[in-house]
Amino acid sequence: MSDSDSERMFEMQPQRPPEDRLERWVERDVDAVCALDAEGRIALANSAAARLFGRRREQLVGSLLGVPLSRANGVELQLPRDGAEPATVELVLLGEEGGRRWIKLRDITALAHVRDQLDQARIRYELVESAANDGLWHWDLASDRAHFSPRWREILGLAERELDDSVGEWLERVHPEDKERVQDELRTHLEGLSARFESEHRLMHESGAWRWVLCRGLAERNHENKASHFAGSLSDITSRKLAEDQLAHRAFYDSLTELPNRALFLDRLRHALRRAARRKDYSFAVLFLDIDRFKVINDSLGHMAGDRLLVMIARRLELSLRPGDSVARLGGDEFTVLLEGIQDAGDAIKIADRIHAELLAPFNISGHELFVSSSIGIATSSTGYQRPEDVLRDADTAMYRAKAAGRARHALFDTAMHAHAVQQLQIERDLRRAIERHEMHVHFQPIVSLATGRITSFEALVRWTHPERGAISPGEFIPIAEETGLIVPLGRWVLRQSCLELASWQRKLSDPSPCTLSVNLSSKQLNQPDLAHQIAQILVETGIRGEQIQLEITESAILEHPDAAKSILLKLKDLGLRLSIDDFGTGYSSLSRSSR
Ligand code: GH3
Ligand code: MG
Repeated sequence: MSDSDSERMFEMQPQRPPEDRLERWVERDVDAVCALDAEGRIALANSAAARLFGRRREQLVGSLLGVPLSRANGVELQLPRDGAEPATVELVLLGEEGGRRWIKLRDITALAHVRDQLDQARIRYELVESAANDGLWHWDLASDRAHFSPRWREILGLAERELDDSVGEWLERVHPEDKERVQDELRTHLEGLSARFESEHRLMHESGAWRWVLCRGLAERNHENKASHFAGSLSDITSRKLAEDQLAHRAFYDSLTELPNRALFLDRLRHALRRAARRKDYSFAVLFLDIDRFKVINDSLGHMAGDRLLVMIARRLELSLRPGDSVARLGGDEFTVLLEGIQDAGDAIKIADRIHAELLAPFNISGHELFVSSSIGIATSSTGYQRPEDVLRDADTAMYRAKAAGRARHALFDTAMHAHAVQQLQIERDLRRAIERHEMHVHFQPIVSLATGRITSFEALVRWTHPERGAISPGEFIPIAEETGLIVPLGRWVLRQSCLELASWQRKLSDPSPCTLSVNLSSKQLNQPDLAHQIAQILVETGIRGEQIQLEITESAILEHPDAAKSILLKLKDLGLRLSIDDFGTGYSSLSRSSR
């Protein structure tokens, strides 16, 4: 086997043991290099050594280097002890034909050891580089040369392309919006002002798309604390960034209409408040808009149609606004609009009118033409607000006023409204405790037959005596009870009290001619699926027959949930109860009548 054959064998062996690596190192050396064993025999020699001794390499291996040398010039050679300083020895080599060669022998054990360690470090680095999901880069600041690992290139779609070794391959790909920040972050670290470089930015992929990356690095400093080398990693964080963006979007936008949600609206309102506090000439207004009778659309055409309508309303609202104004969906059928830089309330009213006009044209949903109106409450910065929530609260209060005044209109908030709203809140609070505290009682209004002059029936009317304010008119508290749902326990209590009272009269009267009682039923009560069961229980408990009770229901209560109402009314009829439908639109009016 020739030298070149054996060399080719070396190249073909993939996993070399450490001594093979040593052989490779040695072979590259231009100096003659021999490795000696403990007895001074040549264990390994390179081509330069073979040339020097005029032998083939395999002839050298096994020959005793010490003996001919020592015989040549009378020097006894001994291998240095472990740990001894490496020494150089000069000697003369006598050729077979009498020629002479001056030779310098140098102990390179320590050097070979370092080479071996370096070799292992390089292998480790190559393994890490190919196994890591992150790209690796190195920047030699003195020569301004950069190296990028295969994975680094792959992240940016550059695996196939020739790269030059300039750091521009990286920095020129940074998104224009991120460039200044990345340069700042780099400068800060290279100047020693940050412990490590860490930067999230966008880089241009070879396809032209932007990739989000996390780049980390650490500079190595020389004795003057000047950065000389800079190296680090690059991870592709595009999917994480997209997920974060989606989360952020969900936190601030309504998923149905894509409009800003309450949180984002409050944030914009907070900015407007700050601006108003800084600048005397700046005013804003908030419109609080609630679609009129939206439930009817859900109930008649379904929730999906309701959703589609909400989306269409959102688009029309956007159309009726100026570029700087923002519209949001607070939830349900409630929308808000922030009008910035207005002159006075008159401007806000004009825009409310424009919204009314914009909503006037019918909406086409699944072949149905739907007519929609809204009630709008307006609050302006002239009230002098501190907190955004207060602006919304007052605009909401004004919206309720617009609803109460007949819907499809706007109302401007004023302080009297605020006082009224506060009073409503107090009533609501007190109302919650009124039944437990026995502040309520039922008043029975007799109904006399004109023909016989006898009392034929009674109407049960609820009364409230407030401990501080005295008698509160039902006209004041019944609407609040309706709004808050307190009407449900209150209505049940009134029916039970009435039945108990009727039963006690019957026991007292010697002539127990059947007397009937009429009791009002609100739409909220009618909405309870177990209403018939509740009433049946009261009848059993009090011993009153169903026929003695006449329930008064308003037409609008039935229209609100026609299907549910129908099934409940049928069950009530089965109990023998008599039902009467009040005039449309009178709602709670009969409960609230103070006298007749
Ligand atoms: P009013 O004139 O008093 O405003 O009557 P309304 O029927 O519009 O009643 P209100 O504003 O109190 O209630 C709005 C209804 O909108 C309540 C709920 O059934 C419905 N709703 C709430 N959120 C959604 C939604 O995301 N999609 C749909 N389709 N309906 C919703
Ligand atoms: Mg509504």
